[in-house]
Amino acid sequence: MYADIYGTGDFLKYLRFRENWMKLLSVVVPCYNEEAALPYFYEAITKVARDFSGRDVEFEFRFVNDGSKDGTLKVLKALREKDQRVHYISFSRNFGKEAALYAGLTAAEGDYITLMDADLQDPPEKLYEMYSAVTEEGYDCCGLRRVTRKGEPPVRSFFARQYYQIFNKISDVELVDGARDFRLMTRQMLDAVLSLKEVNRYSKGIFSWVGFNVKWLEYENVERVAGETKWNFWKLLAYSVESFVDFSVAPLHFVSVMGILTTFIAVLAIIFVIVRQLAFGGSAYGWPSLVCIILLLGGLLIFSIGIVGEYLAKMYLEIKDRPVYIVKEEE
Ligand code: UDP
Ligand code: MG
Repeated sequence: MYADIYGTGDFLKYLRFRENWMKLLSVVVPCYNEEAALPYFYEAITKVARDFSGRDVEFEFRFVNDGSKDGTLKVLKALREKDQRVHYISFSRNFGKEAALYAGLTAAEGDYITLMDADLQDPPEKLYEMYSAVTEEGYDCCGLRRVTRKGEPPVRSFFARQYYQIFNKISDVELVDGARDFRLMTRQMLDAVLSLKEVNRYSKGIFSWVGFNVKWLEYENVERVAGETKWNFWKLLAYSVESFVDFSVAPLHFVSVMGILTTFIAVLAIIFVIVRQLAFGGSAYGWPSLVCIILLLGGLLIFSIGIVGEYLAKMYLEIKDRPVYIVKEEE
């Protein structure tokens, strides 16, 4: 395996791997329209790789071109030309960051694996500390969490905070507020992550679901070095609703409870109407209130069907069992 990566020419290096004196660290990087940021990223990560050489670790870079519309693939090919540690997978279209992560993680061959964004928002220098946490302090994984959201629109920060609170309340896994996807983990943990075969992949949830000992390092938010963010408010909102459906059935319970509650209220109302009719006679009270009640119930009903529909849609997509991504070329 290592011979493929480094060529048998470098026999000494090959032997060091084979005898397990040397470890391989895979860096997985999803890229979508990152032509502008990639050169900075490559420079930063190779600098870190050089400084690691004292620790008997070799790097491999697994870039995933997620159907970029700019020159990302060209940049990756050029990097591959001059550096054999660079590998790339190029998708046939844009499949989303989750798919790109999954492809990169599946291809990674390292003893340790780390994921990071191409825009240097995940500072590569943190890798030293993360690597020590995993190899020396006995953790299975070390991740980074932002303690500030400097440079982010306040509305987005506000909703992000609410999101983490709600998610942790209603789902069976715990998400750490501000945790990024940037993390370094052991091969054992990665194999656990890859053993979850679901098509709708919510990585943050999956990483938490598999368990293991995770150490969190704190850092201040860094803004992207070049290019533009691929997320907007609505995309994030849709993403968060999906994550609820992926990791919690609480909304379904909510529908049942709401049904029982409205039935109970309706029974009380019926008793009230009958008693009033018997005691006072007369009829046809309260048409406006009737309209309100019908509208309210109609709304609740449609909302409930919507919630059930979200789960049905997920099941439908899951059952179709389509591949998570399609590779057009790779090296
Ligand atoms: N990304 C991707 N596919 C997409 C969207 C984003 O591979 O459809 C990559 C992107 O190239 C970057 C990472 O995911 O390396 C994070 O994206 P971005 O920086 O736009 O997100 P933000 O940091 O603003 O949350
Ligand atoms: Mg970013």
